[in-house]
Amino acid sequence: MIIRHSPAAPRHDPQGFFRYGRIVEHPESVERYHILLAAAANAGEVREAVDHGLAPIAAVHDPNYLELLRTGFARAPDKVEEVVPTQFAPWTPHRRPEGLAGQLGYHMTDTSTPLRAGTWDAVYGAAQAAISAADDIFIHSVAYALCRPPGHHASAAHAGGFCYLNNAAIAAERLRASMPRVAILDIDVHHGNGTQAIFYDRNDILFVSVHAETASYFPYFTGYADEIGVGAGEGFTQNLPLPLGSGDDAYCSALAIGIERILAFAPDALVVSLGFDAAAEDPIGAFTVSERGFVRAAEIIANAAMPTVLIQEGGYPSKALGQRLLRFLQHFDAMRPDA
Ligand SMILES: [Zn+2]
Repeated sequence: MIIRHSPAAPRHDPQGFFRYGRIVEHPESVERYHILLAAAANAGEVREAVDHGLAPIAAVHDPNYLELLRTGFARAPDKVEEVVPTQFAPWTPHRRPEGLAGQLGYHMTDTSTPLRAGTWDAVYGAAQAAISAADDIFIHSVAYALCRPPGHHASAAHAGGFCYLNNAAIAAERLRASMPRVAILDIDVHHGNGTQAIFYDRNDILFVSVHAETASYFPYFTGYADEIGVGAGEGFTQNLPLPLGSGDDAYCSALAIGIERILAFAPDALVVSLGFDAAAEDPIGAFTVSERGFVRAAEIIANAAMPTVLIQEGGYPSKALGQRLLRFLQHFDAMRPDA
């Protein structure tokens, strides 16, 4: 399997974010990159991302939003380590303001996505890893992109939930440019609210998400089963929320239902938003999926026998993180009917 990554990933090094009025340690740490890269290196051939420029990113994201991500840190009035929003736009803002503080609130949904000196380089590199892996599947059928920071909570014009650029959406749009139908399967423990928002009115990119119920779990406002898409996109979003604490059987049964929906859609390629925060050991997860559960998940998805891009989403440092990725990639490769 081809493994794509960007050596710029460690340049984004968030330290903390607000939770109930306290600053807590930021789990989306540089350490994740080193753990995941070391693990992936045992499962395939590691290659650096190719720089395909801004166009494939701009195919998904709003130009003003990209400008803020790229230049926001440099616009800070004082010498600071990072900028975060301190006020948020109302849900139907009258206009996009000119100043940095207003623009941060306009384009960010929480305080977990600081702009730091190296943030743009890291998020740009992660997107390029996703684009490179999408291109790889035309030759190699399957590829993995080690995207850090992750992306599935980022919408076209909003950062949030540790995410800035939606790497899975960028990969899906890249593939869609040369094929009629693409499906996205999101198996991160959190609902892929950004990805859902980006494709909610589309019938050429199917979005299926298996995640923990959001009534009292991030991202709270979306992820419910009755969200099915709008307009032409009606019926092309499927949410499969599961109770907090769900384990291997519930997780894999929901994945099998999701794969059934994807096969009925008959896509030309599959993008997997691959989070490992459904693991029992994950420090911020809400499920109890075991190593055996992830092996079964790999088997269920591999058996669908589609050209597949695996995009790294969540999964936070624990003793198990590297092993979860390695075993998933190894089994995915071994189970593919064309392997
Ligand atoms: Zn997650």
